[in-house]
Amino acid sequence: MIIAGPCSAETREQTLETCRRVAATGLVHILRAGVWKPRTKPGSFEGVGMKGLVWMNEARQETGLPFGVEVATPKHVEAALEFGADVLWVGARTTGNPFSVQDIADALRGTDVTVLVKNPMNPDIDLWAGAVARLQNAGVRKLGLIHRGFSAYGVSRYRNNPMWHLAIEMRSRMPELPMICDPSHIAGKREYLREVAQKGADLNFDGLIIESHICPAQALSDAAQQVTPDDLETLLRSIVWRQSTTDNPEYKDQLSALRRQIDQIDAETFELLSKRMRVAEQIGRVKRQNNVAILQGGRWNSIVEKVVAQAPQLGVSEEFLKTVLEAIHLESINLQNKVMNE
Ligand code: PEP
Ligand code: MN
Repeated sequence: MIIAGPCSAETREQTLETCRRVAATGLVHILRAGVWKPRTKPGSFEGVGMKGLVWMNEARQETGLPFGVEVATPKHVEAALEFGADVLWVGARTTGNPFSVQDIADALRGTDVTVLVKNPMNPDIDLWAGAVARLQNAGVRKLGLIHRGFSAYGVSRYRNNPMWHLAIEMRSRMPELPMICDPSHIAGKREYLREVAQKGADLNFDGLIIESHICPAQALSDAAQQVTPDDLETLLRSIVWRQSTTDNPEYKDQLSALRRQIDQIDAETFELLSKRMRVAEQIGRVKRQNNVAILQGGRWNSIVEKVVAQAPQLGVSEEFLKTVLEAIHLESINLQNKVMNE
């Protein structure tokens, strides 16, 4: 499922021409445009409003493709439905606000429009799932999810941190809902679009939503991440979609042998970790007998240094080792705390 179109409908000409050319790729199933834009700073271009719906309606008539818009208030829902929008999506800033999501859900009661729910800005799966539940409780049946990454602090490669594991976790909680990837808002820059889109395909997402503009450099919103319809076509043709599984018996044999190895290694790993924790408890007892504090900063730093230095030989990242060590340290401290207070 490919959704594409401008970040924002800006003028009739830009909207229609982008939609025409996006549709002409023959690779796009749904057109998109924002007509009400949630902007970080006041005074930025905030969308053309209802006029944009008129243009998207025209684009639909010309191309024969359905269209979707973002809604953030009951008024938006009402207007979008009046113009027969085929798909509505709840933006990241709105998903994070239960009051707004509830208002939207109430406005959608009794309709049968398709609604896509973007993840909230902050990496909170429960908040995302809660928004979906509010819509389900209001009787919205045709639902889908959009992964657009999570707000990142400081400078990083992407505009929004993908945190793919959270999308995967959401998918396993709601396996019946299709999930599409939004490489435009994750990447933030067109040069990274392809790698993010391919990652989405590798992770078995059900589709992509990508922003396209006839003249990206002049776009009134998200200029750095939009691509021309020609570049969109090149990008879409380059994506390799994986099958979710295969009946090839050789593949199945290889996979189950490897999975048996993984299960065995996991069992041994946790057995060892358990042993380590028992030793940590003994240390706690020794410290208690000698009335010594649990936290010995220098000791811990030297463990971290020693382990992290092994990252290259171990073939894993320093970040991974630090995350694992942090979890081990936390559990050790909790256990030592417990024996201290026995
Ligand atoms: C958008 O799709 O144009 C948009 C505003 O996205 P998000 O809600 O993901 O920031
Ligand atoms: Mn955008």
